[in-house]
Formats: sequence, C-alpha cells, structure tokens
Amino acid sequence: MERRKRILITGAAGFLGSHLCDRFINENYHVIAMDNLITGRLKNIEHLFKLENFEFYNHDVSKFIHVPGELDYILHFASPASPIDYLKIPIQTLKVGSLGIHNCLGLAKVKGARVLIASTSEVYGDPTVHPQTEEYWGNVNPVGPRGVYDEAKRFQEAMTMAYHTYHGLETRIIRIFNTYGPRMRLNDGRVLPAFIGQALRGEDLTIFGDGSQTRSFCYVDDLVEGIYRLLHSDYAEPVNIGNPDEITIGQFAEEIIKLTNTNQKVVYHDLPVNDPKQRQPDITKAKALLGWEPKVSRSEGLKLTYDYFCSLSDEELRHKEHNNFDNYIVK
Ligand code: UDP
Repeated sequence: MERRKRILITGAAGFLGSHLCDRFINENYHVIAMDNLITGRLKNIEHLFKLENFEFYNHDVSKFIHVPGELDYILHFASPASPIDYLKIPIQTLKVGSLGIHNCLGLAKVKGARVLIASTSEVYGDPTVHPQTEEYWGNVNPVGPRGVYDEAKRFQEAMTMAYHTYHGLETRIIRIFNTYGPRMRLNDGRVLPAFIGQALRGEDLTIFGDGSQTRSFCYVDDLVEGIYRLLHSDYAEPVNIGNPDEITIGQFAEEIIKLTNTNQKVVYHDLPVNDPKQRQPDITKAKALLGWEPKVSRSEGLKLTYDYFCSLSDEELRHKEHNNFDNYIVK
C-alpha cells in the first residue's frame, strides 16, 4: 500500500492555514500543523485533534524546526497578515518571513520535500500597473508601516528562488490577493471582519479614506483549490491567485449593510499610510497553467462568511480589542 503523504503546514491555526489543514486531511494526507499561536487560534483546528493523521506542534518557525520522520511537502503560511497585526508585531513579522522561510527551506532540503510559500499581492505595494501581472516588480516603500510585511514577503520569494536555483529544491510561490471567509479573526483589522463586526454590534462602519480605493475579494475555498493545484503543478515562478471581481471599499460597505440587513451609517477615517489605491489580480497565468479560476461569487461567499460571524458568541463579538485603531499609523 502506498505511504500516506506527509505535509507540514506552518501557520496552521490561522485563517488560511486552518482551511489548508482541512483540505489536506480530506485528501488523506498526514498533516503536521505548526503554529506559535501569536495570531492563530487553536479553535480553528481543534476539530482535527482527534484524527490519527493530524498532529500539532506549538512552535515558532523563526526558530530551528525539527520534524521527525519523512516529509513530502511544506506549506509556509505562518505570518501575521493584516496591517493591524504586523504593526503590533513588526519584528516577528520580519522574522517569520526571513528566518522562518530559511528554516522551512533548510528542512525541505534535508527531507527532499517540495515547498510552497504564501506570498502576497503586497509585493506589488501601491501598484502603478493595473491589474497586477506577475511580471510587475511593484512599488513598495521599505521603511513605511507596511514595509515589514511587504519586504519580508519579497525576501521570502528571493530566498525561495535561491534554494530552487542553487539547491535544485522544488518550490512554488503563490501571490495571494485579498481573501475572506469563515475563521477570519473579528479583530484583525481587515475590512471584512471590521465591517461585519461593526454591523452586528450596531456601530458605524469605518471607511478609511474616501472609500474610492479598490480591492478584489476571493472566497477562501477558491483560494485553497488554487493552492492545491499549484502545489501539484511543476511551475516554480510566482502565480497570482485571487478573484478579479474588483470593488471600491465604499461599495463594499454598502454591500455589507445590505447583507446584514442593518441601517448602519458609514463614517470616514484617515487613510493609513501607503494604503494601496487599487488592487486587482491578473489571473491569466493561473487559468492557463492550473486551469483555475474562482467559482464562488461575492454574494455567495459573503453570505457564508456572515453566517459564520453570526454563529460567534456575544463575548467574542464584543471583545474589547475590536476596532482599536491605536496602532494604525495614519497620515
Ligand atoms: N479599510 C477600511 N475600514 C476598515 C478596515 C479597512 O476602510 O475598518 C480599508 C483599508 O484602508 C484598505 C481596505 O479597506 O483600503 C482593505 O483593507 P484590509 O486591511 O482588509 O486589507 P489590505 O489593505 O491589506 O488589502
């Protein structure tokens, strides 16, 4: 009988990491989940603890990683990933993208594993090319507040490519655009949990800037399918995965008000420094190489996400950290 494939997922207790654990468990892999729980939550993966093909290590991947036994794949998804988080913990953000990936790549070399890293549309910074293709090199301010995240992810891509070309390691790079779905943290500062949380608590929706900046939101199941396909492809260059359906943040606020069936008002705050004005993935490559494109419309995905937030306890919904913009650097 063929041996069960073994996969290490870093950042496993986070929003994306936990959905990846589910997917690979469903595909009958042995999943080794790793997280230091700075921004991840055990609640996201506790339903997997009883399974014999799941194990969890509470470990910071910026420190030397030891995994006993064979390893076929590594998915590096450990990182704070929202502006509020990486402004709160900038050094850890830089370390997990640099020391963390170095440890993952070193481990992969020893084990002969294939590595897929979570990169981001943030490598394009505040883009001057629209929509963003993989060939665009970006417009990033290294010393701005988002620099700790953007540069860590850019370094991570460079390091991964270096292991690929120098050591012949099998590597894959995904550039993830804004993704949403169940298990997002209500207080991570991202626009979707912020707006839904505000609507559910009967607060005004906080639009940063005049709301004309755009984003393109991808439902998490679509993203996970793209990751699964990329991992099993033979393509080592970066690939954008995201939903090209672009919307302004102002329109998005209107959609959330309608979805939640509330009559909340919107209020305007200053736009955070270096907040990208527009963002939309060009997914030509993903379509051609992986036969992938998103299937879940924003209205379907928002409904599923809203149902999740509605299922949270009152205590979670009213946690005191919500909408604490103290750490947000504005102009
Ligand atoms: N945003 C907003 N109100 C909020 C939170 C975010 O208007 O309460 C804006 C934010 O300034 C940005 C967009 O929504 O222009 C998306 O923000 P998010 O943090 O979700 O993702 P990112 O900026 O990393 O794409």
